[in-house]
Parts: sequence; C-alpha cells; structure tokens
Amino acid sequence: MLSVKLIFEVLIRGLVTKIESKDYYVLTDSNKSFRCTLRGKFKKDFALKKNKLYLTDIVAVGDLVDFDINKDGSGVIYKVEERKNYLSRKAPRIKGASYRGERLEQIIASNIDQALILCSIKEPAFNNRTLDRFLVAAESAHIDSIIVINKSDLGTENQIERWIKLYENIGYKIISTSIVTKSGLDELSKLLLKKKTVLLGQSGVGKSSILNIIYPNLDLKVGNISDYSGKGTHTTVTSVMIPFSDNTFIIDTPGVREIDPYGIKKEDLGHYFIEFNKYLVNCKFNTCIHDHEPECSVVNAVEKGEISEVRYDSYLRLLNTIETDLFY
Ligand code: GDP
Ligand code: ZN
Repeated sequence: MLSVKLIFEVLIRGLVTKIESKDYYVLTDSNKSFRCTLRGKFKKDFALKKNKLYLTDIVAVGDLVDFDINKDGSGVIYKVEERKNYLSRKAPRIKGASYRGERLEQIIASNIDQALILCSIKEPAFNNRTLDRFLVAAESAHIDSIIVINKSDLGTENQIERWIKLYENIGYKIISTSIVTKSGLDELSKLLLKKKTVLLGQSGVGKSSILNIIYPNLDLKVGNISDYSGKGTHTTVTSVMIPFSDNTFIIDTPGVREIDPYGIKKEDLGHYFIEFNKYLVNCKFNTCIHDHEPECSVVNAVEKGEISEVRYDSYLRLLNTIETDLFY
C-alpha cells in the first residue's frame, strides 16, 4: 500500500513548450513530453478574474509546472511555479468588444533568459521604430536583448554600420548576419547556447531561415518574401519552445509580428529607453515625460547630440500610442 502511495506522490515537474487550444505540452528533465490539461481549480480561479479572458495567462509557454499523470499517460497540471519574468503584449482587440478593458494582456512566454530581436537591413527595410518597440517590451519585462540585423548581403556596409554603432553606443549587443554569405551565424549560435531565448521580429526578416541553418534538423517553414505585410492582427499567441541539446531553448513566436507593450505608463516609458536613464533625474519636473516640458534633461541631451534623434523620435511615437490609449 505504502509503495503505491509513494508512486503517486512523486513530483513531476516540467516545462510548458507548446499550447494548443486546451492541451499543454510539458517537457520533463528526462526529456519526456506529456500532453496535459489544466486542473478544474485553475479555470475556476481564472473565471473569477473577469477582466482577463486569455487562457494563456494561467499557464504560458516557458512556465514550470507540476502535474499528475492519468492512467492513459496524459497529465493534469495542478501548480504553476512563480515566473521569473514574462514577456507580454496588449492583446489585439477582440471583435465586438467595446467596453473598457477590452485590450487585455497576453503573455507571450515566461522565464526567459534573453530576447533575440531579429531585423533585416532590406526586404523588409530596416525599421528602427519596430526594433525600439521590441526593445521596450523586453526592457519592461526585465529581459536582456540581443539585436540581429539579418540579410547583410542585401545592404551596404555603411547602411548596416550606422545602426550597429547607434545601438552599440547605447549598450546593446548587436550583430549582423546573412544566410547567403553565412556571416555572423557562428557568433549568433554561440550567443544562444545554454539559454532560453525568445525570438522576436517582423515577418519576413528571416527567423525561420536562420533557425533552419543553426539547427539543420529543424525544418521550419520558410515564408515567401511577399508574405511580410504588416501589423500583428493575429488574435492568438502561438509561441512554441523548441528544445535543443545543452539546455538551449528557442521560443519562436510566429503569431507575434509586432508588440504593443502592455501596461507601460507614460511616465515610465523613458526608463525603457535605457540611454535616457542617466538624464531622467535631472529634469526640472519629476512628472516630466520628456515631451513639451521646460528644462527637460532628455530634450537637452538630444539637442547636444548625446541622445540620438531617431531614438528620441521613436520614444515620442511610442509615447503617443500610450496617450491615445484610454486604458493606461
Ligand atoms: P520569417 O518570416 O522571419 O521566418 O522569415 P523567413 O525565414 O521565412 O524568410 C523570409 C524570406 O527572406 C525568405 O525568402 C528567405 O529566403 C529570405 N532570407 C532570409 N534570410 C536572408 C538573408 O540573410 N539574405 C537574403 N538575401 N534573404 C534572406
Ligand atoms: Zn524630461
């Protein structure tokens, strides 16, 4: 009797690698994957929070969970370990919803070591504002970023160097790559080793192509150039954590083309443009949002060329999207 009881009390813990409707795929340390559902209690607790509608908020890709195993070999998740961090975005508008609070938080992934923000120099053209938006999302979630400018074969050295210098000066790790010349790919794969990396970037910049080269047995679908079209209108978060050897995990986010950072207040945005930080304390008003206020230390630094104009411009645009959003 006792031994039977012990068997059932063995703690099974694993990492959520994929969520498909109500199925949660959980990978254990011994490299076994279990298809799990959520224990009823979770759903009940969740239903109480009426302002939240997304199941991914209860359990997200990257979560460490405890689960029981059913007779048929499937599992039931009964506990989610506290998240070290998580990346989220404002959920796209829900069709037909018009009440306050319709724009909810959607968790993209949790327990992340670093974000790899992939851009391309051309096709699609390098977009520093999209990059800054991803950087702000990562900064506000306390996640380190690595920036990669892909398709270096399509741009001139000058075009690429300009951006590398700018972001290097701010303090970011930034490299350029090309799947055509293969330049930068070794360095990139070293940066990913033994880390949980969330891969972010607009559609068409080369996410699948790069992963396929670094991890040849992966076989991700490579899209056609004409597929890159624009904003993230997808309503579901489709993150998938892909485990590789040596504790290396990549979280691919095919449903996330752009991130509208969630829950950032106007007065906090400046902190997520990390080169603004040392100036913030010197603004005349402590409520300064570095827009129109007199004696703003950030604006001063822009005028003196200590903060780049393109970054400040990015900041203002992002600030504007927060201002027009009723909910923050
Ligand atoms: P994803 O949407 O970010 O996953 O982008 P894909 O990997 O599907 O790539 C989109 C297109 O860009 C494909 O036609 C790729 O062949 C092409 N591509 C990817 N990387 C490079 C590169 O370094 N140089 C060039 N010239 N084309 C690339
Ligand atoms: Zn200011």
